[in-house]
Amino acid sequence: MGPPGSGKGTRAKMIGRMYGIPVIAAGDMLREAAARGTEKGRVARAYMNRGELVPDDIVIAIMEERLNKPDTERGFVLDGFPRSVRQAMALDRILEKQNVTLDTLLYVTAKPETIVGRLSLRRSCPKCGAVYHLRDMPPKREGFCDECGSRLIQREDDVEEIIRHRFEVYERQTFPILERYQEAGKMKEISGNLDIDKIPAAIEEVLGKP
Ligand SMILES: [Zn+2]
Repeated sequence: MGPPGSGKGTRAKMIGRMYGIPVIAAGDMLREAAARGTEKGRVARAYMNRGELVPDDIVIAIMEERLNKPDTERGFVLDGFPRSVRQAMALDRILEKQNVTLDTLLYVTAKPETIVGRLSLRRSCPKCGAVYHLRDMPPKREGFCDECGSRLIQREDDVEEIIRHRFEVYERQTFPILERYQEAGKMKEISGNLDIDKIPAAIEEVLGKP
């Protein structure tokens, strides 16, 4: 977990690669369901098109379906889920059914100033959702998506005032979730402000050797 723009997605992908486990990103799952045109996917798309958060029930159902796939047997990384207490409780229920316990909640810490600086360099693909960073993760061809070739855009909500507002909303929404995992002794932190080549060592320090 970590506020939008903290570098959470980058760290999740690295963990997946280092430990050889799937990364299950809620945003990707929702876009995938929308692209497949499933019933839940169509509902999710309507919310996303309006720039609104997809309701808990839909997110939970899509994540449960994904967590039931056999590739999660050796472990998995969740990115962007749970985002509300209701989602956290649903996750507990899903995992309990599978007889699985979460090892760690890894929280990516970042100050709003750092995030503002970073998001102004962010570009994203309106078609497939891929995200780039002009300094840390530039696309191979300037201005275009590596995955699908669409022209990259700077999201309108990547401006300072909105970024600060999103940060506050995120902290307020997720504080009770963090508290639950902190009380269970499962919360660990990683800095959101590391050079990209320093991230693997920082991950290993908190999660142990791959
Ligand atoms: Zn794309």
